[in-house]
Amino acid sequence: LDATGENFSPEEFDIERALRPLSFDDFAGQEQVLDNLKVFVAAANLRSEALDHTLLHGPPGLGKTTLAHILANELGVGLKITSGPVLDKPGDLAGLLTNLDERDILFIDEIHRLSPIVEEYLYSAMEDYRIDIMIESGPNARSVQLNLSPFTLIGATTRSGLLTAPMRARFGISSRLQYYSTELLSDIVQRSAQILKVPITMEAAIEIAGRSRGTPRIANALLRRVRDFAQIKGDGKIDIGIAKYGLKALNVDAHGLDEMDNRILETIIDKFKGGPVGITTLATAVSESAETIEEVYEPFLIQQGFIYRTPRGREVTEAAYKHLGKSRGPSQGG
Ligand code: ADP
Repeated sequence: LDATGENFSPEEFDIERALRPLSFDDFAGQEQVLDNLKVFVAAANLRSEALDHTLLHGPPGLGKTTLAHILANELGVGLKITSGPVLDKPGDLAGLLTNLDERDILFIDEIHRLSPIVEEYLYSAMEDYRIDIMIESGPNARSVQLNLSPFTLIGATTRSGLLTAPMRARFGISSRLQYYSTELLSDIVQRSAQILKVPITMEAAIEIAGRSRGTPRIANALLRRVRDFAQIKGDGKIDIGIAKYGLKALNVDAHGLDEMDNRILETIIDKFKGGPVGITTLATAVSESAETIEEVYEPFLIQQGFIYRTPRGREVTEAAYKHLGKSRGPSQGG
């Protein structure tokens, strides 16, 4: 159960797919984003045009891929999925693009990790629905222009700051997803429980929701693990008792902070007297990349009021001391 969402088994990915909302109506929260997208989709449908290229940004597990699926469904078009690191040859991109039907969606996850050459190709594809491809090599090499069907590129990124300016400029729509409230997450947990056919009390759903780091993917993963406890240690139903028991056994803390969240706070307090500490120094101290800290851990810790940024680095708040049961002072920590 790690906030990056990278450590899930294939089986969990299957379940995640089963729990994925398929229409605007099934998608909880992100109201402002959704309200706008509904208008743009309706307009595109009315004019039988491709939806404008759309950039979705925000931390992992908040619903970017889910929204791409929903947009395809609501537009009644096909969807092809790839990701920045996978798409490393212009030829691969050309293959994908030339196979798109009119108004189809190409979803590129981690679009900030595209290679510069592929990105270059994408510019003309996005702007003019045209690409130049090189055929043959050596002295016979020449470039041929291919026309593409009008399509929609949906780019997802956890780091919009890393997108190049020309790339960003080519998206007509840009939406930022926010962390979910406990209330919304408990709705999501209840919907998922229904799909998984496991009875759950409202209280238990709220308990799981409150410890999910504001993230639907984590809420669903916790629900699934707690379901195991309910089936093996209980009577199959998830009530508050079994939820608390399971969450405790899973080592999920009261705020839903995971091991790395807590390690970051602890390190700033114990090794850097509460901060400020620069991101690179902090990254070395906790053995995690600065990039991952900035894109996955820090946004939530800031949103929850445990750390804040200063020009000289990150500092923890009083709430972080309290959360870890530590007190400020020269004799503490070490
Ligand atoms: P991202 O692409 O941002 O990393 P995903 O779209 O893969 O996140 O979402 C992870 C999982 O969380 C999905 O499989 C889906 O089940 C669930 N999920 C995400 N957003 C919502 C939502 N708004 N309502 C219900 N479930 C959601």
